[in-house]
Amino acid sequence: MKKISQALVFASNAHRGQLRKDGKTPYINHPIQVMNLLVEEGIDDAELLCAALLHDVVEDTDTSTELIEKKFGKRVAELVAEVTDDKFLSQVERKQKQLATASQLSYEARLIRLCDKICNVHDMLHAPPRYWETEMRMNYVRWGMAVVDEIRGTHAGLERRFDLILRDVQMPVSDL
Ligand code: ZN
Repeated sequence: MKKISQALVFASNAHRGQLRKDGKTPYINHPIQVMNLLVEEGIDDAELLCAALLHDVVEDTDTSTELIEKKFGKRVAELVAEVTDDKFLSQVERKQKQLATASQLSYEARLIRLCDKICNVHDMLHAPPRYWETEMRMNYVRWGMAVVDEIRGTHAGLERRFDLILRDVQMPVSDL
């Protein structure tokens, strides 16, 4: 519990001032939601929950993997590293790489990835970036679906949650 609380404080400081793609939601809401999904599915592995809270700090802030390891230990740092995109790649390359390597993730990293996609696709549909055209938003949703398809069979409950988000989409999934 102490470690989770420390991770929450660390992540909220690291993401200070950052907003989600809708331009108004504080960024920290996202890692909290990712962790909460794991908790709702009955997962109580404290290090995994810490990694969920910290999953975007290396990718989206100037926090290093080394600092995560120093403060939260090797396993948490490795999990965060697994779900961190390579900052030196373009956005398109990052998306391609995430898709290509999804099935190579450890079981715990796949759980974080699933929760991340549930949150991001949900937000893309319900709290979309203000200036993104429908086609851009649907491309993002399609990419999220493709990544989840790569790791299906990891956790039935989380995969069901992902599918339920898409069930509410106005157009048939096949047209996305
Ligand atoms: Zn994320």
